[in-house]
Amino acid sequence: MSNTRNPVYSYSPIFTLSSIDVPKIRRAYEKAMDRSSKFFEIRWVLDRPKVYIMANRETMEDLREGKVGDWVGGWSDENAIYILDVNKCKLTKKVKARVLREGYLSDLTHEIAHLFFLRVAKTHDAIPVWLWEGVARYLDGHTKSSKNTPRFRPNKFKDFLEYYDKHKLSGKENEAGVYGESGFAVEFLVRNFGKKKLLLLIRAIKDTKDEVTFAKKFKKIYGFELNYDNFNR
Ligand SMILES: [Zn+2]
Repeated sequence: MSNTRNPVYSYSPIFTLSSIDVPKIRRAYEKAMDRSSKFFEIRWVLDRPKVYIMANRETMEDLREGKVGDWVGGWSDENAIYILDVNKCKLTKKVKARVLREGYLSDLTHEIAHLFFLRVAKTHDAIPVWLWEGVARYLDGHTKSSKNTPRFRPNKFKDFLEYYDKHKLSGKENEAGVYGESGFAVEFLVRNFGKKKLLLLIRAIKDTKDEVTFAKKFKKIYGFELNYDNFNR
């Protein structure tokens, strides 16, 4: 999520929509919904999120009314999920083949996790960004390493807390940003202190309007300060 918008977009774009039925993607969608439903412990039966596959980067820019960062491959919005056609993504042939084989499972799981997160948090503010992206990264499989998808676990947590209200740091737009450590930080919390506490933290977001209040709430729930030392134990 998030992008750099042009201050003025010169025209109002028009889109064509047509529905497709791809069993592989349908199955991946159900799997992703199921994974989030179990994790967040809520059911989502009515008005479920719709999936839009964007044909190319131009469509993506028109939908966002401006230039979209190279690293953006999709986003979610209310109860809709937008994913860029994998053939138009800057990925290796091998990764593209896997995404198609899995019917966009990882992307769908990531975006669906974001939507469940907002339902549980009962807010429209996706803040802290590290928690918002971290939960989605944790659920989409980013922290799980396998032979085909080696993951790069940080040796030491050292920057995820910088992403309270942003995805990237200015001047470092080409680096991993919040996506580097956040999934592993959430994994650390779930593995060591259980999921219940994490859900409590997510539910507390609506009452924490700034970084300081959030850190206080975190300490109340976890019993320790929100700092790197405590994540590097
Ligand atoms: Zn995300």
